[in-house]
Amino acid sequence: MPDFRIAVFEGDGIGREIMAPTLRLLDGMARQSQTWRMSFDMLPGGAQCYSETGEALPAASVETARRADAILLAAMGLPDVRYPDGTEITPQIDLRKILGLYAGVRPVRVTPGLPTPLAAARDLDFVLIRESTEGLFASVGEVEADEARETLKITRAVTEKVSRFAFDLARQRKADGRGPGRVTCVDKANVFPAFAFFRSVFDDVAREYPDIEATHAYVDATALWMVTQPGRFDVMVTENMFGDILSDLGAGLMGGLGFAPSADIGDDHAVFQPCHGTAPDIAGRGIANPFAMILSAAMMLDWLGETHGHSPLRADGARLRQAVERVIAEGRVRTADMGGTATTDEAAAAVAEALG
Ligand code: NAD
Repeated sequence: MPDFRIAVFEGDGIGREIMAPTLRLLDGMARQSQTWRMSFDMLPGGAQCYSETGEALPAASVETARRADAILLAAMGLPDVRYPDGTEITPQIDLRKILGLYAGVRPVRVTPGLPTPLAAARDLDFVLIRESTEGLFASVGEVEADEARETLKITRAVTEKVSRFAFDLARQRKADGRGPGRVTCVDKANVFPAFAFFRSVFDDVAREYPDIEATHAYVDATALWMVTQPGRFDVMVTENMFGDILSDLGAGLMGGLGFAPSADIGDDHAVFQPCHGTAPDIAGRGIANPFAMILSAAMMLDWLGETHGHSPLRADGARLRQAVERVIAEGRVRTADMGGTATTDEAAAAVAEALG
């Protein structure tokens, strides 16, 4: 029976509060399962680690993460903990580059009970793929006295990979009856040659997928359509910075960051983490919403099942996601961001109960 080793970064702020109940859920599922086991390596990393040791992402943590079957991360960073140049420590972004996690998968699913602010967003189900290793985040910025510059980097190799990832996902979703089989390239090809290049590489890859519709949209219009006609999207693929911004818009459609899971996937490694940060404004009170963290863990089970050809594990991933969706739909247990009073642990316990 496979025993999956998971590297765990609790990180900072609400990170520890949402990770602990998520690991209890995974441990409970592994103990119940007749076909898989799971063990966890707790690793230091994050702003507090930097304050205490001078290292935001210790080399030993990276090595353990590299050897793990998957990586689960809560959130890292604190606004007051900064490098001497004034930027925040962001080891979660460094990890994407170190491990080559080019495909940032941001599902936008609006299921019953979610506090979506838009009537047009009910029953939504699309996926934003954010290229996560280059784009504007590849820059080694230069700041002079009166001028700052950042470099946007788009390479053929990574754009091909992330585009193929998007087309494969659209094909899978079509086969599962979850989408029409459409990939939208989101760019700013009307102004920047770098995005015209991104689009041309996307179009080259699109020719390998005649069964999937390839479309284009400018990022500004995409922001509008995500609000006015969000149902038109199936799979979207875009550059790192655009994806960063649009994925928070996607989280907004779901009713908030507390419901938005994500995965950062490369050829050999993957990190699963909620879209949100460390929420310093509510940290330490035990009231953070754990659902995005638990849904990210469900994505991890699904990915492990897929990459290891282990269908019971995939089924358990779906079971965990459906348990969260059931708790949200029933509306009995609502955390503060849902207008309720449930604590983090009470919300997670409701998921455990729904799992049975
Ligand atoms: P944030 O996502 O931490 O918080 C934004 C707002 O959403 C806050 O009001 C917060 O209370 C709320 N929120 C977030 N997650 C929630 C949850 N699970 N339950 C209930 N409410 C939740 O973003 P921020 O305030 O801009 O950033 C805070 C810190 O987190 C910064 O240091 C930032 O760099 C870091 N950050 C880390 C990641 C990451 O690790 N992936 C992502 C974004 C921000």
